[in-house]
Amino acid sequence: MQRVVALLSTLIALTASAEEKVLNLYSARHYQTDEALYANFTKQTGIAINRIEAKEDELLERIRNEGAASPADVFITVDAARLAKADELGLFAPVKSKFLEERIPAHLRSNDWFAFSTRARVIIYNKDSVRAEEVQNYADLARPALKGKVCSRSGSHPYNLSLLASIIAHQGEARAEEWARGVVGNFARAPKGGDTDQIKAVAAGECGVAVSNTYYLVRLLRSEKAEDKKAMDRIGIVWPDQKLQGAHINVSGGGMLKTAPHKEAAVKFLEYLASDEAQNYFANGNNEWPAVTTVKAANPALESLGKFKADALPIAALAKNAATAQKVYDRAGWR
Ligand code: FE
Repeated sequence: MQRVVALLSTLIALTASAEEKVLNLYSARHYQTDEALYANFTKQTGIAINRIEAKEDELLERIRNEGAASPADVFITVDAARLAKADELGLFAPVKSKFLEERIPAHLRSNDWFAFSTRARVIIYNKDSVRAEEVQNYADLARPALKGKVCSRSGSHPYNLSLLASIIAHQGEARAEEWARGVVGNFARAPKGGDTDQIKAVAAGECGVAVSNTYYLVRLLRSEKAEDKKAMDRIGIVWPDQKLQGAHINVSGGGMLKTAPHKEAAVKFLEYLASDEAQNYFANGNNEWPAVTTVKAANPALESLGKFKADALPIAALAKNAATAQKVYDRAGWR
C-alpha cells in the first residue's frame, strides 16, 4: 500500500500544472555526460528535468500504457526503427521549429522527431583469418567464401533491422532477402549477444567477421584495460560500401509526445539539444557524431576512425522499411 501511495504521489507530481517550470523526460540513454547536459539546460532556462530512465522498448510500452494521462513530455531513444515505432503508434506530436530545421539536416529528421547524433554500422574482421579486400561491402558477408566465419547479434535487434531496411531501400526486398539468406548460411554460430560480444568474438578468432556500431569500437579504443587494447589490435575496421551508396548510418534522437503536459518546455528542450554545447555532450557522451554538421566532435578516438562516405538515405526511409526487414529476417531464419 505504501508503495502505491508513493507511486501515486510521484504521478501527481509529474502531472502537475503546465505553468510549472518542469520537463518530464523519458530517456533510454544512461550516459554520465548526460548529467551535465541536463544540468546545463536547467541553468539556462530554469526548467527542472524529471528523468525516467529505462530500456528503450520498456519506455515505449510505458508511454503506450499511460495513454492520455502520460506525464512524458519528450521521449529520447536510439535507432531509427525505434523512433519509427513511436511515430507509427502516433505517440509524437509534430514540432514546428525554425531553429531545429536550420540545425538538423533534412535527412536526419521527420515532422515528428529529430536525430541529434549519428553512428555508422561498420564491418570488422579478424586480421589473421580474413583480408580487408574480402569484406569491403555488406554484400560480401553473404558470399560463400565466408562460410562459417560470420558472427551476428539477433536479426530482431533494431540495429540489424535498420541495416536491412537500408538494403531494402537501395536494392528491393527480394535482393535483401537473398543477402540475408546468404549471411545466415555463413554463420559461425547462432546469433547471440550485443555488438561488443561480436567484436570480442572476432578478436578471439571465434569468427572472422561481424558488423558493429562505431561507438562500441571507439569505447574499446578508449578503454584502459589491457584485454580491450589487445582485442582492438587483432581486428580491422572497414567502412562498407564506399564505392556504392556509403556506410549505413543510424541515429539517436527524440521528439515531443502528443500528450505532453509541458509542450513549450518540450520544444525548448529539443532546440537546446541542437545547440553547439548540447551537441557536444550528447554526441561525445556516447562517442557518436553530432547531427549538427558545424559542430566538431573533439573526440580523438572517434576521429581516429577517419573519414568515410556515409549513406545519405533519409532516416525516415529506414523507419518505413523496419517492419518489412523483420519479415525478411524471419523468412531467412536470422533469429
Ligand atoms: Fe547500442
